[in-house]
Amino acid sequence: MHNVSPVIQRLWRQPAPNDLNWQWIELRTKVKAVAGAQGVDSLFLRPTTLEEAVRALSESRGTILSGGTDFFPGLVDRPMTSPVIDISNVTEIKGFRTTAEHIHIGGRTTWSEIVAAVLPRGFAGLRAAAREVGGVQIQNLGTIAGNLCNASPAADGVPALLALDAQVVLASVAGTRSMPLGEFLVGNRETMRRPDEILTSVAIPRRLENSASTFLKLGSRRYLVISIAMVAANLVTDGSRRISEALIAVGACSARAQRLPVLEGALAGEIARPGIGKSVKPEHLRSLLPLDDVRATSAYRREAAQVLVRRALEACVEKLP
Ligand SMILES: Cc1cc2nc3c(=O)[nH]c(=O)nc-3n(C[C@H](O)[C@H](O)[C@H](O)COP(=O)(O)OP(=O)(O)OC[C@H]3O[C@@H](n4cnc5c(N)ncnc54)[C@H](O)[C@@H]3O)c2cc1C
Repeated sequence: MHNVSPVIQRLWRQPAPNDLNWQWIELRTKVKAVAGAQGVDSLFLRPTTLEEAVRALSESRGTILSGGTDFFPGLVDRPMTSPVIDISNVTEIKGFRTTAEHIHIGGRTTWSEIVAAVLPRGFAGLRAAAREVGGVQIQNLGTIAGNLCNASPAADGVPALLALDAQVVLASVAGTRSMPLGEFLVGNRETMRRPDEILTSVAIPRRLENSASTFLKLGSRRYLVISIAMVAANLVTDGSRRISEALIAVGACSARAQRLPVLEGALAGEIARPGIGKSVKPEHLRSLLPLDDVRATSAYRREAAQVLVRRALEACVEKLP
C-alpha cells in the first residue's frame, strides 16, 4: 500500500455505512475519484460486512489483507500493484460456532483467540499449533484463514487442521462452497481458492471433538522458529481403547502438508497402548517428499518426521482417559 495516499486510507477509516446500498457505493466512487485525481492506481478498501467484502473483491479483483503477518513480509519492499481489501473489520467471520455436525472457526479468528478459547479436547493439537505460530504479537494478529490461504509448506495450522479432517468454507458473490482442506491445498503457496473468494470458516466434524489430540513441532531452536517438520495426530478410540479412527498429518516435509493414509489404515482396529509408536515404519512415510534447504536436509526431515509421528502417537495414548 505504499502508493495509496493518506486521503484514500482516511476515507476508508470513516465509520462504515450499515448497509451496502448507495452510501457504500458512493463512498467507493469518491475514493476512486480521489485516487484517479492523484494518479494513484491502488485502492485500499475496508469493508465491514462479508457482503461488502465479497462485492469489493469481485469488483476490484484486489488482494485480501487480514492480519497482514504474511501479506506485508511477502511484499518485501515492492509497492502494491493491485487494490487491497482489508477484511480486518469483518467481525462476522470471527470466532466459534457449533452446529449439530460441526464446530466452525471463523476465518478471521486469530491464533491468540484459539489459544484462549474453551474448546473440546480433540482440539488440543490445534491449540498447541496456535501457540507455535510466531510470538504472541504475531498470534494476536495472524488468522487461521491467512495461514491456510498463504499455503506455506511450513504453516503450523495446516497439519493440526488436516488431523481434524477440516473443511474450508469459501464465499463469493456467487454463493458459498466448501471442500476438504486436503483438496484446498494443492502445492507450495497454491490453493483452490478463486480470486473472488474469501475463506470464511473452517468446519471441523464433531465426531473428533473427544479424540486424543497432539501437535509436535521441530525447529532449529525451541521458540519463534520456522518448522523443520511438524506432526499432528488425532486418535478416536472406543471404551476398550481400540482405535476406530486415526488421523495423522505431517507438515514441512512436502510441498504441502499431508495425511499418512497407509499408517492411519494400519492403526485402525489396534489397541492404543504405550509402545504404539513402534508400529510406525519408514514405509508409512513414503508419500512424503521432503526438500533439502537451509533448515535441514531431506534425509534429516524424513528421519525427524518418523520420530515425531512415533512421539505424537505415544502422546495421544497418554492423553486417553
Ligand atoms: C515474525 C513472523 C513469524 C511467523 N511465524 C510463523 C510460525 O511459526 N508458523 C506459521 O505457521 N506461520 C508463521 N508466520 C506466518 C503468519 O503469521 C501466519 O501464517 C498467519 O496465520 C497469517 O495470517 P494473517 O491473517 O496475518 O494473513 P495475511 O498476511 O493477512 O494474509 C496471508 C495470505 O492469505 C490471504 N488471506 C488472508 N485471509 C484470507 C481470507 N479470509 N480469505 C482468503 N484469503 C485470505 C491474503 O490475501 C494473503 O495472500 C509468521 C509471520 C511472521 C511475520
